[in-house]
Amino acid sequence: MNFDLTDEMNMLKDMAYKFAQKEFPPVSLEADREEHYTPEIFKKAAENGLVGAWIPEEYGGAGVGFLGLALITEQLSRVDMGLGLNIVAGSFGCEAIYFYGTEEQKKKWLVPVCAGEMVSAGAFTEPNAGTDAAGYRTRAVRDGNEWVINGQKMFITNGTVADFFVTQCITSPEQKKHNQFSQIVIPSDAKGITRTKIRGKMGIRASDTAEISFEDVRVPVENMVGKEGAGFYQLMHFFDTTRSMVAAQGLGLAEACLEASIRYARERTAFGQPLGNFQLTQAKLTEMAIRVESLRGLVYRTAWLMDEGRPDYTLSAMAKYWAGQTAVFAANAAVEIHGGYGYIDEYPVQKFYRDAKILELYEGTKEAEIMTIGRVLMSR
Ligand SMILES: Cc1cc2nc3c(=O)[nH]c(=O)nc-3n(C[C@H](O)[C@H](O)[C@H](O)COP(=O)(O)OP(=O)(O)OC[C@H]3O[C@@H](n4cnc5c(N)ncnc54)[C@H](O)[C@@H]3O)c2cc1C
Repeated sequence: MNFDLTDEMNMLKDMAYKFAQKEFPPVSLEADREEHYTPEIFKKAAENGLVGAWIPEEYGGAGVGFLGLALITEQLSRVDMGLGLNIVAGSFGCEAIYFYGTEEQKKKWLVPVCAGEMVSAGAFTEPNAGTDAAGYRTRAVRDGNEWVINGQKMFITNGTVADFFVTQCITSPEQKKHNQFSQIVIPSDAKGITRTKIRGKMGIRASDTAEISFEDVRVPVENMVGKEGAGFYQLMHFFDTTRSMVAAQGLGLAEACLEASIRYARERTAFGQPLGNFQLTQAKLTEMAIRVESLRGLVYRTAWLMDEGRPDYTLSAMAKYWAGQTAVFAANAAVEIHGGYGYIDEYPVQKFYRDAKILELYEGTKEAEIMTIGRVLMSR
């Protein structure tokens, strides 16, 4: 048994952290305040091999697998989770194309994403159904060699900046509920698409989020990804796969909270001594550190098992659940340790606090993770 990262993985980790340290701070505050997406950082990240890095080299990626993606995500999120998301979610949705797409689809969509020439989005959630993934209503009807798509998608990351969406549509309404869906790639320049940026997010405000409506949007039949009627199962597999990346966001964010808190506890004095001398402060730091290390174990192992071809999706759900819990706990403790200064934007911890909450909501709410894990436990 060996818990050490390889030299290659350590180098990747360092490179991603250095990239974030150099590129993020100059734009971080403004991107957060103005809810401003930063395409220039996405392009630079692609030049450095950080976009779609998990994708094999034959399709333009760096071939570092899901452990590599987790390390990149962790390090970017350690500096700014919103800006980091722009990079790691720049290939969001491509997982479905990689696992289920044809050779032609992989070359057509994955290669330009890795090169930073295109941004993708996974458009699944709808205004009336999020957790209930079999409740989506977007409909695709076949008309000759085209699919005609009507419906609405909600809260889509990269929604207004994406060049294409991997969407979940009902194609076979006559089938049983879970067999009605298929995944279809919709280029964003197709006629009939309206994209509306959602403003006023609590956190990850540098990330673009949008509502999208499709009105008689036509795409060629070749844009279907995988088998007709298999979309629901493909989507579940997609979530299973991407949860380690989302969990790695929580790991990076919680580490940032711990680092900022240790720094502050050394500098700030009260009653004539540094805050860090007080056992109550140490208790908070200790609890943060224990949670960070247990989360690291879950995230790395989950990602590594996927790369080994032995995925454990219950573990992925645990990692994602624990990431939300750890990030929210760590951000809360970090604000407390910073006292009143933690509540204003002179220090980054108020942003960490706002950013953390999304980890208990997207890519499956914490309740959805609990349900997934609970179901498996009861079926054993
Ligand atoms: C910033 C942001 C970015 C996002 N990015 C994307 C994206 O790129 N692509 C995409 O497709 N989606 C995206 N989402 C959507 C996100 O995944 C959903 O918001 C999430 O899955 C929850 O769905 P919902 O909002 O419809 O809540 P609901 O499903 O309505 O849930 C509301 C509450 O009820 C609980 N609940 C629901 N069902 C049950 C049950 N059976 N038992 C117990 N409790 C239950 C939930 O846990 C939650 O607490 C994003 C969301 C946000 C906010």
